[in-house]
Amino acid sequence: MVKRVSRGFAEKAAKALKDNKKHCAVCGEVIELVKHVVTVTDPATDSIRFREKMVSICGCNRNEIYK
Ligand SMILES: [Zn+2]
Repeated sequence: MVKRVSRGFAEKAAKALKDNKKHCAVCGEVIELVKHVVTVTDPATDSIRFREKMVSICGCNRNEIYK
C-alpha cells in the first residue's frame, strides 16, 4: 500500500523529480543519481572502510554499478 500524502507535498515532490531528470546523451535513458557505498580496504592497517559517493547511473554504466 502506498501511503497517502497530501496533494501539495506530492506535487512538490513530482516537480522536484521532474526538474532533476536528465537524460543521457549516449543511451537516452534517464540518469538516476544514486548513493553508492563502496568498501575500501586499507592494506596498511588491514581495515575496511565504507565510502559513500553519489553516482549517476544510466544504461551505460548500470551493469558496472549493480554487479
Ligand atoms: Zn547512458
